[in-house]
Amino acid sequence: MRREELIFVGTCDIAGHVRGKGFPVTDFESRRNKGVGWTHSNLMQTAFGPILDTPFGTAGDLMIIPDPAAMVRVDFADGSAVEQFCLGDIRNTDGTPWECCPRDFLSRARAALADQDGLNLIAAFEQEFVYTGVEERPGDPYSLNVFRRQGTFGEVFTGALQTAGLTPDSFLAEYGPRQLEVTITPQATMIAADQAVILREIARAVAFRMGYRVIFSPMPVAGGIGNGTHIHFSLRDVDRMPCTWDATQPMGLSPAARHFCAGILHHLPAICAITTPSPVSYQRLTPNRWAPTQIDLMQQDRGAALRICPVFASANAEDTARQFNVEFRVADATASPYMALGALIFAGADGIARKLEAPETVKSLPHSLSAALDAMEASETVRSWFSPVFLDAYLRHKRSELAHVAGMGDSALCAAYAEIY
Ligand code: GLU
Ligand code: MG
Repeated sequence: MRREELIFVGTCDIAGHVRGKGFPVTDFESRRNKGVGWTHSNLMQTAFGPILDTPFGTAGDLMIIPDPAAMVRVDFADGSAVEQFCLGDIRNTDGTPWECCPRDFLSRARAALADQDGLNLIAAFEQEFVYTGVEERPGDPYSLNVFRRQGTFGEVFTGALQTAGLTPDSFLAEYGPRQLEVTITPQATMIAADQAVILREIARAVAFRMGYRVIFSPMPVAGGIGNGTHIHFSLRDVDRMPCTWDATQPMGLSPAARHFCAGILHHLPAICAITTPSPVSYQRLTPNRWAPTQIDLMQQDRGAALRICPVFASANAEDTARQFNVEFRVADATASPYMALGALIFAGADGIARKLEAPETVKSLPHSLSAALDAMEASETVRSWFSPVFLDAYLRHKRSELAHVAGMGDSALCAAYAEIY
């Protein structure tokens, strides 16, 4: 039978899902400027699918305009459909950015950082997930045995990532049952977020073709080991030179990096509502899971919210400056990478603008999404990163999701989120 190759154009929305529409790939050029049709209430689709509350009703038209820089084509050559998608921006019908576009949120954050002496940021997302194609056995964490028993998933996944233009750095069996992790090399802000989205979708695409699935939910089983999305970042100056490290300063942090980190710590109770934006996220942020529980900045400590990472076998000062990076651990895959990285950058840029210092006393992270949303709504600074329409939409989206799962016990809640992420 004749087959026509399709391409899907989409956005990673505030539920962290990639949604959009497809068309024959031969139409791509003619659709470069008009993309696919979208509507305001599409943004209000909850993680579970249904729209539970929306300020937009059924009115309005938008477009998702593909960005060829975020184009993926992977032919698995196994008779399955070519995996072909392109991420893009949600725009008004006149082509201007829509005020609630998550990718535009990240663009605006990048501009806020650039306002600080032309600074920019490079980032790498380190993502953990469960692969259901591995049998669970005791003694598995980090073992060669599980590395072997995941079969060809790792090889096909790595090959597909490379075909999609990503540069995989490492692939490993993590601490949790059936849990794997992949890291990729750092990239400029927007590419890093696009690649975080692409990596999740490629993992799903490979697992799907093998008859299994991947689970990125922050807590796949109640009381278990969480899946984190750790965001490694470092600052670059106006000449794109590394400027996070300063050997003469405490913990090796340059003044700009120190204020940037302080901004994140300062806004963390509020930005948790963006970086760990699901009720189940808060089951991960609990003790004894190598996940953060406090608002802290520590050197080489995997329990910290912000961890200053080690520099390995540095050849010289330039090498140290290039390797030196900080890891933000209060994020998971229920967040759109655009929103999570955007919130982190907005917070850090505010820290630089106001020359903030890390708080003197260490406080706990919020214990629930509801507390984080209240902190977000109460923060004048965080509100200023959103238009009033976007803020209202975001809060309604998340609060309607909370109402939807209210009354579920921990196990039911984890099971429900494991099904959708
Ligand atoms: N799984 C841990 C988390 O939920 C992180 C383990 C590690 O890579 O240090 O963030
Ligand atoms: Mg890990």
